[in-house]
Amino acid sequence: MEERKTMKQVQINQEECIGCGACVEFCPDIFAFNEDENKAYVIKPEGGNEDCIEEAMASCPAGCISYE
Ligand code: SF4
Repeated sequence: MEERKTMKQVQINQEECIGCGACVEFCPDIFAFNEDENKAYVIKPEGGNEDCIEEAMASCPAGCISYE
């Protein structure tokens, strides 16, 4: 039987994001900043470099990034 990995998705809880910009600094390929709303958003939900996603999650002061 073919083995399939469940696709993980990068998400930001927009309600909780305080707009510090740390995630964008760590992974500009994955996150971008919405200046109007002063919040970050995900530009690449399928993810990429796991290390930088992990670092962004660990550095997010609001703990609002998930990758699962
Ligand atoms: S690190 Fe967290 S709080 Fe800071 S901008 Fe990114 S998602 Fe928002």
